[in-house]
Amino acid sequence: MVRVPADELEKLKREISLERLVSQRVQLVEKGADLVGRCPFHDDKTPSFVVTPAKNLWHCFGCGLGGDVVAWVMKAEGVSFRHAVELLREGAPLGENTAKVASVRKLAAPISVDADDVALLDQVVGYYHRCLLEEPAALAYLVDKRGLSRSAIEHFKLGFANRTLGLRLPNKNREVGETIRGRLTKLGILRETGHEHLRGRVTVPLLDDSGAVVGMYGRTITEMHNVPRHIYLPGPHRGVFNLEGISSSREVILCEALIDALTFWSAGFRNVTSS
Ligand code: ZN
Repeated sequence: MVRVPADELEKLKREISLERLVSQRVQLVEKGADLVGRCPFHDDKTPSFVVTPAKNLWHCFGCGLGGDVVAWVMKAEGVSFRHAVELLREGAPLGENTAKVASVRKLAAPISVDADDVALLDQVVGYYHRCLLEEPAALAYLVDKRGLSRSAIEHFKLGFANRTLGLRLPNKNREVGETIRGRLTKLGILRETGHEHLRGRVTVPLLDDSGAVVGMYGRTITEMHNVPRHIYLPGPHRGVFNLEGISSSREVILCEALIDALTFWSAGFRNVTSS
């Protein structure tokens, strides 16, 4: 399970003002060092909902619910822990008159619906690349453990499927959401279950000779029982790794694994590819 780094989570919990989030939905009045209001989660006749700004925590003495900013977003928006953290990370506007609205606020969509398949895959590659740059555990795996350079990560647009792509697509009960999910499933990015095929893995895009993404490789960053370490997008394996680097050279270093080829490249051997 890929997790949000503990220190980042602590920072979110500490620095995002619970008072600000809650007061978008609940009218709060000062009472000593606390703020009180009517609980939005039960039929509250007396103000029994308390926010303690000094601790950035909330608690309801009526229904017993309470917690930190993440717990608030989970409950107020009706989303999972992971989704709540993503919303907080993005600074997405929360709570503005959403009490009666069933669908959750959208995170900015990294995918445009009108893109053709090539552009769509390219957008997924770009999204995974941005996710990698924000995922210390995945970067540590590539840089510290496998010896890859930052320029290799940039040059080959390596990525990390951190399981957030689905959260950023239009809702599946809307036609546009259904369409885009259907197309991503066909391309192999999503499985029939709706999960990302390469989730929890660093990703390496594979290009054809025109530079179009025609495949993707995924490698787990931790060893897990019963989880295959190396997988590709379904369908025939296509594309050549580092075609640009090997086409100008008479001698080619052929590695079995892509990550090994990337390690060679990072060490200055540019005429390298992988079988
Ligand atoms: Zn309550």
